Amino acid sequence: MADIAFIGLGNMGSGMAANLVKAGHAVRAFDLNPDAVAKLVELGASAAGDVPKAVKGADVVVTMLPAGPHVKSVYLGEEGVLANTHDDAVLIDCSTIDVDSAREVAAAVAAKGIAFVDAPVSGGVAAAEGGTLTFMVGGPEAAFKGAEPILDAMGKAVIHAGDAGAGQAAKICNNMMLAIHMIGTCEAMNMAKGLGLDPQRFYDIASKASGQSWSLTSYCPVPGPVPAAPSNRDYKPGFAAPMMLKDMKLAMGTAEGLGANTPMGKQAADIYERFVAEGGEQMDFSGVIKWLAGEL
Ligand code: NAD
Repeated sequence: MADIAFIGLGNMGSGMAANLVKAGHAVRAFDLNPDAVAKLVELGASAAGDVPKAVKGADVVVTMLPAGPHVKSVYLGEEGVLANTHDDAVLIDCSTIDVDSAREVAAAVAAKGIAFVDAPVSGGVAAAEGGTLTFMVGGPEAAFKGAEPILDAMGKAVIHAGDAGAGQAAKICNNMMLAIHMIGTCEAMNMAKGLGLDPQRFYDIASKASGQSWSLTSYCPVPGPVPAAPSNRDYKPGFAAPMMLKDMKLAMGTAEGLGANTPMGKQAADIYERFVAEGGEQMDFSGVIKWLAGEL
């Protein structure tokens, strides 16, 4: 069993770290929010007061942070992971960040001969808690092999996407699809209601018809059909709308850089921008159904 530093115990990281504890690993937990650390300690982790205390002597470091700037400062800062880890450690960043930041961190870590992978996740909070995430991993084969057993304890699928940054590249393409699917699902659900269809009945039909998607069957944006979905908790995140907007901005920046034609992605990014600005900031991304219905 490994000695694991886990940094970033928010909506996703708390469940992921709990699964590492359950798998028998010794987890040292750190987050800027002391309440988040306390919750993990109740489950059997030990508290670390800062990044250096979490990382020193750990075999593995897992980070689950909001965005690129957080990841760069936690890894590359003076009191950061890289300055405090040892040469044989395996460093795993599970945050969703831009490909350039991921490659910058990977290059700095590789320059010291230490193993690092970008390993963003798909699956949401229920999958983080249930240990059924999908990990898309970027980095050298040896680093992937080092990270794989740890990721296996938190996920149902661990897939090597390619070299450094490839995990983030896969994630950004995946989430552009998700943003588009979710908006389409919400539009159809609102229209079905307007046509007098019972939401559960329409769900039963669409989930077995060609409208089926993860947004519908794992994360249904109307309350009822999928009990674990945020729609049943007044759209409390979950996957916060500003996080989806962050991902869509990353996707649109990437599309522009590549010259890729992504008109639906652009529409989805614009819709999330307006949703966040017009009342959705504290909501789960599936709460966009309310904005589309003019209910915010
Ligand atoms: P979150 O905001 O709930 O959690 C982030 C945590 O990081 C917070 O607890 C915060 O206090 C902590 N943190 C920030 N800066 C820190 C620092 N310098 N040192 C220590 N801790 C610090 O976010 P989340 O929903 O858990 O998402 C985390 C990442 O996972 C994001 O990149 C997000 O895009 C991605 N993601 C989220 C979901 C989801 O459904 N929530 C799904 C897939 C991927």
